[in-house]
Amino acid sequence: MIVLGIESTAHTFGIGIVNDSRKGEKKVLANVKDTFTTKKGGIIPAKAADHHVDVCDIVLKDALAIAKLKLEDVNVIAYSQSPGIGHCLKIGAMFARSLSAKYNKPLVGVNHCIAHLEIGRLVTSAKDPVLLYLSGANTQVIAYEGKKYRIFGETLDMGIGNFLDSFARDLGLGFPGGPVVEIFAKKGKYVELPYSVKGMDMNFGGMLTNLKQKIKSGKYKKEDLCYSIQETAFAMMVEVAERALAHCDKKELLLGGGVACNKRLQEMCNKMCKARGAKMFVPANEFLVDNAAMIAWLGLLQFKAGDKLKIEKADIKPYLRTDEIEVKWRKD
Ligand code: AMP
Ligand code: MG
Repeated sequence: MIVLGIESTAHTFGIGIVNDSRKGEKKVLANVKDTFTTKKGGIIPAKAADHHVDVCDIVLKDALAIAKLKLEDVNVIAYSQSPGIGHCLKIGAMFARSLSAKYNKPLVGVNHCIAHLEIGRLVTSAKDPVLLYLSGANTQVIAYEGKKYRIFGETLDMGIGNFLDSFARDLGLGFPGGPVVEIFAKKGKYVELPYSVKGMDMNFGGMLTNLKQKIKSGKYKKEDLCYSIQETAFAMMVEVAERALAHCDKKELLLGGGVACNKRLQEMCNKMCKARGAKMFVPANEFLVDNAAMIAWLGLLQFKAGDKLKIEKADIKPYLRTDEIEVKWRKD
C-alpha cells in the first residue's frame, strides 16, 4: 500500500510518500518539505498559509519524482488534521481534498503529535516508548496506555523551541535560535536560572523574563546564558520524562521534535536512561523535525485499521488533543 501524506500544521509544508508492501524494503520513498521563514523568526499565520499555497505544487512534484511514482499509483491521501495553526492546516486539508476528488483516492486525517511518535517507532527499534516531544510550539511527554496516547506532562505556556528562539532573538542570534544557542553553549559556564516543574508540567515564562533581564543588564556573557538555558530547560524535560518512564513502567524513551536534534539534550536523556536501565531512541533529524513522511505513515496505519474520511468530513481540528483519539492500529 502506498500512502501520500501532507504536513501543514505550522511553518512547514511537506509531502511524504510511504510504502509498506514489500517486507525488508525501504518504507519511506520520499520526504520533501519547504519551510516558511522570516528574518526575525516567529510566524504570521496568513503569510505562512500563503507560502504553503505557493509551494504545494512544486513540493508534490518533487516528492513524486523522488519516489518515482505518479498520483495514480497512490492508494490513500493522508493529511495533518490536528493540532496546529488554523490558517496553515486549512491549506493542507484543501490540497488533500482536491487530490482525493481528482484522483478518486480515500482520505485519512492524522494527528501531528501522534505522527511524531509513530514515525519514531518505524525508523528506530523502539516498540512501546515514552515520547519526549520537543518542538517549536509543542512540548509534551506522551505514552501509550489503555488504547490512547496520553499526555503525561506538558508545557503550561510556550513550547520549548519557541522559548529558545525568543531568547536567541533577544540575544541577536537570528532564527531559528536553537542550533545557534547549542554552538554558543559549548563554551559557557553556569549561571542560575529559575527552574519550573509543577507536578508533571513545566513552564518557561519565568525563565524567559529572567533571561531578558540578564541580557538587558549587560553583565552576562552570551556563552554563559546559552549554556545555562540549555542546562536548566533540558533538566526540566529530563525530570518529567524520567517520572513518566517510572509511572508507566516503560523502558524506552523516544525523542521527537526539532529541539531533540540538540546533542546536549540527547546526552542528558541518555544518561538518565542508562541510570535507570532504559534505552533511548533518536530518529534521524529528517524525522525529528516536522515532516510529511510521518503523516503518510500514520495515515497508512490508520487506513489499515479501518479509518477513512468522507470528503465533506475532511475538516481541521486545530485544538484536538492526542488523548481524544482512539488508537485502533495498535494491538497491544
Ligand atoms: P519543529 O517545530 O519540530 O520543526 O522544531 C523547530 C524548533 O527546533 C525551533 O524552535 C528550533 O530553534 C529548534 N531546534 C532545531 N535544532 C535545534 C538544536 N540543535 N538545538 C535546540 N533547538 C533546535
Ligand atoms: Mg512537530
